[in-house]
This record gives sequence, C-alpha cells and structure tokens, in this order.
Amino acid sequence: MSATIIDGKSFAEGLRGRIATAVEAMKANGVHPGLAVVLVGNDPASEVYVGSKARQTVEVGMRSFEHRLPADVSQQELEALVARLNADPEVDGILVQLPLPAGLDAEPVIAAIHPDKDVDGLTHANAGRLANGAVGLVPCTPLGSMMLIRSVLPDLSGKEAVVVGRSNLVGKPIAQLLLAANATVTVAHSRTRDLPEVCRRADVLVAAVGRPEMIRGDYIKPGAVVIDVGINRIPAPERGEGKTRLVGDVAFQEAKEIAGAITPVPGGVGPMTIACLLANTLTAASLRRGLTPPT
Ligand code: NDP
Repeated sequence: MSATIIDGKSFAEGLRGRIATAVEAMKANGVHPGLAVVLVGNDPASEVYVGSKARQTVEVGMRSFEHRLPADVSQQELEALVARLNADPEVDGILVQLPLPAGLDAEPVIAAIHPDKDVDGLTHANAGRLANGAVGLVPCTPLGSMMLIRSVLPDLSGKEAVVVGRSNLVGKPIAQLLLAANATVTVAHSRTRDLPEVCRRADVLVAAVGRPEMIRGDYIKPGAVVIDVGINRIPAPERGEGKTRLVGDVAFQEAKEIAGAITPVPGGVGPMTIACLLANTLTAASLRRGLTPPT
C-alpha cells in the first residue's frame, strides 16, 4: 500500500491562519508583533527567501522590517545594526539571512542577536535551552518537521527515531525535539557504519543530509514515518536543455511504497520553515511581554 503523503504546504497554510488569528488578538491588546530581516548583498536565492518572508509576515498581520546592506558592509557595521535591532522595542524577532557574503563572519553576528529575539533559534543560548528542556526559540525547520511528524504520529513515546545528519541547523535540534518527545533517538552521520541497517530500525526516519535521493526504499522500515528535509537541485534533461528539478534526500518513488507516511519534496518540510519563523516571532513577542505563547 502506498504511504500517506504529508502535505506540508496545506499544513503551513493552516498554521499561518492560526498565527493570523493570534496576531489579531494581540493587536486588539495593543501589541503588534514585528520581524526584522537583514539581507547583506544580493545573492539571488537569498533575495527570493527574504521576499517570501516579508510577504508572509505582512500577510499574517505582523510588521516586517527589511534591512538591506551592501555586500561590502563591514563586520562592525553589521553587528551594530543587530545591536540596534536588539534595543528596538518594535522588533520582536531578528533574522540575519545566511549565508553572508565572503569576508563576513556569521558566527559573531548570530552571537550578537539577543536570544529572546533569535527567531532562527541559532544562538548558543537557544541551543542550550533546547538541550536542557527550557523554554526558548527552536530553529524553524526542525520545529516544522516535528509538527509534520506529530500530524501523523501524535504519540512518539518509545518510538525508535533515526535522524540522518547532525548539523546545528537541522539534525541536532530535530534529535533534541524527538528526545524531548520521549522517542529513542539515534543520530547518524557521514561516519556511521551500515547506514541502511541503522535506518531500518526507525519508526520515524528524518533525512537531513543534502545528498539527492541517498536514502533508498530498502533503508525504510515498513510503515515508518519518513521526513525528508533535503532540498537538492539536480539536472532534469527530460524537461529540456539546462533544466533542473528539486529532489529530497530520500528516493521518494521507492520510499512511498514502503513508508507509512512521507513528506514530498517540494511541498513537505520546505513550506513549514517560513510558517515556523512566523510562529517563532509570535512566541518571541509573547515571551518578551511575559505572556503565554499561543499553541
Ligand atoms: P549540512 O551539510 O550542514 O549537514 C549535512 C549532514 O549530513 C552532516 O551531519 C553530515 O555528516 C551528514 N552526511 C553527509 N553525507 C552523509 C552520508 N553519506 N551519510 C550519512 N550522513 C551524511 O546540511 P544541513 O543540515 O544544513 O542541511 C541538510 C539538508 O537539508 C540540505 O539538503 C539542505 O538544503 C536542507 N535544508 C532544508 C531546509 C528546509 O527549509 N526544508 C532548511 C535547511 C536545510 P558529518 O557531520 O559527519 O559531516
């Protein structure tokens, strides 16, 4: 039997609707949440992301503050902008679009963001809060992946979860969230021995590798929930000369015949990321004012 296809696009739409309702309620109480996005240089992919973030921020009723800096801005000037946004009472969330142009060091810029405005969840403070089970801001893609897992498997207690990939941005925070949900978690990476065998243990398999279709059908336990975080652009000569298409880290056609539920690429985890950025902005706006964030 073919797997349930987890529709991230429609889940994200529903989430944005719930966020818009919560923003309305906050505005009625005199609070107007705002997200500041900093874009340095003019990388075309980053321009597209920043454009979508700004549009969706406004669509849910929040304020969007866009800060564009030239690629040759100094490290000092960039960090000074972050400091101004930290101090700005109108700004609830700060996102610095990565990667930064050559010559700029992202780490001190991220470190300069106040943890309570760190809606990307990338500061050490928020990574520590997540590891310790404290309230904080969780990286957006892991948060969105978790929502999709729970949409098909609400109770993760005692389930075997395998996360392939251990980046600070995706793999590690997803592993922490699964652990907090009482799953038994294995984190696999490039040095893992016999990856297919490790993956076959998983009731929940998360692929966050960045290698097109690396996870084959025979890596998957029948009935497993498969979350494909990977976004890889590969040549698609069948669509015409020079054309490309997006694929995940999972060989979708094979995997969907074995999995119980699976996210497609595109249309799975991807759309959740910006929706979770908005959710985090709402959380930040609430926490900063001592309010309970809407769930
Ligand atoms: P990184 O390159 O930072 O991390 C990749 C991880 O995969 C590393 O831990 C690496 O192991 C591991 N890995 C690499 N090769 C293998 C292998 N052959 N076997 C097992 N593990 C391997 O990538 P990210 O975590 O930033 O991103 C992962 C994917 O998710 C990418 O495709 C990216 O585009 C996508 N992504 C999607 C987002 C979305 O919105 N949907 C957002 C962010 C990322 P090691 O540590 O040993 O090197």
